[in-house]
Amino acid sequence: MSSTPSNTQLPRHIDPRKFAQQGLDLSGFIAVSELTRLAEISLDSSDKVEVELEFGVDDERHRVIVGRANCALKVTCQRCLEPVEVVLDAEINLAIVWDEERAKQLPKALDPLILPEGAADIYSIIEDELLLNLPMVSYHDEDCIEQTSFGDDEVEAKTESTKNPFQVLEQLKGSPKS
Ligand SMILES: [Zn+2]
Repeated sequence: MSSTPSNTQLPRHIDPRKFAQQGLDLSGFIAVSELTRLAEISLDSSDKVEVELEFGVDDERHRVIVGRANCALKVTCQRCLEPVEVVLDAEINLAIVWDEERAKQLPKALDPLILPEGAADIYSIIEDELLLNLPMVSYHDEDCIEQTSFGDDEVEAKTESTKNPFQVLEQLKGSPKS
């Protein structure tokens, strides 16, 4: 039982079946820069993923990995193109299986993780889980683009446009001829 979230970097290559057999826990962080697909969308290379995993064998003798991985990722808001933070929180309920056949026989609560014997890249396994939690598009919660709205697809943008656009135009032209 670790009382504080581990400050150590997670090892990349481990033997998940051996870990399950021995009932080991694994916790630590992964630098986002180590995760190529997440690093591609992250604006801050110092972002980190926190990981807590428990390996074990369940009552039905599945070798399982349960735990969670989470990170706050700085990405580009697809509305205003400024940085926005998205929180990814992946709950991990994996059962290690040899092939598709056995994957199909798993109970619904477990997601199959098809692995050959030996060491596996736990980073890419965790990255897969995080990417499942990534929203299709990332926006600020607030109306981040109100002032520069083009008014074509934003319903909220309408509320502020009570000014008569022609009045504004006249002001811009300067004082009328006298
Ligand atoms: Zn925004």
